[in-house]
Amino acid sequence: MRLLGVLGGMSWTSTEAYYRGLNAGVAARLGGLHSARLLLHSVDFAPVAEAQHAGDWGATARILGDAARGLAAGGAEALLLATNTMHKVAGEVEAAAGVPLLHIADPTADALLAGGHHRVGLLATRFTMEQDFYVERLRARGLDVVVPEADDRDLVHRVIYDELVHDVVRPESRAAYLDVVGRLVAEGADSVVLGCTEIGLLLTDGDAEVPLLDTTALHVAAGVDWLCAPDPD
Ligand code: GLU
Repeated sequence: MRLLGVLGGMSWTSTEAYYRGLNAGVAARLGGLHSARLLLHSVDFAPVAEAQHAGDWGATARILGDAARGLAAGGAEALLLATNTMHKVAGEVEAAAGVPLLHIADPTADALLAGGHHRVGLLATRFTMEQDFYVERLRARGLDVVVPEADDRDLVHRVIYDELVHDVVRPESRAAYLDVVGRLVAEGADSVVLGCTEIGLLLTDGDAEVPLLDTTALHVAAGVDWLCAPDPD
């Protein structure tokens, strides 16, 4: 099996789901006592989040670039960056490591298109909803992306940073998120991307009237495919 490097800790509550999902996926695929060959660098989220909110993306790229270089030096042959938001600096991280990065938006777009979805709502951090790096990657695949209006974006962002990254899951926040989903559907969304890797703690596909696509699960599945593929060498 190939060796996959995981850049986690953003936050640890979602990295826990990645670790479980990658191992369960490999065990289901290969059977017996098989488990995922992983190198995990789980960062301290505080300086990353501080730099995000200060708009200092260069600082985030340096923190993650250093960690990525370490994973590659340790033998990782590809990387998973276990957060949507930090794909803002995916290019810098991939260049620092010198190994391919399995971009989280790609399996997400694949699943949306395979499901016949065209107009997708996006729940994510304000950075992911308001900047181009993620939305444009989905649009480049022919998808129409609907983001919540400003008050809803603030609510979704606040619940991520004040609750989910602290492992706090509140029923009232689940209800508030479902109201936001309802407003996206009223705007014509035929599906909603859970475009933050912690939102799976709060919402599951089946909770709403449209499909909810969890980027953590889709990214994990891409990692399992990569791990279980025959080594090209
Ligand atoms: N895990 C989140 C995401 O997928 C937010 C935390 C972060 O900024 O990395 O965007």
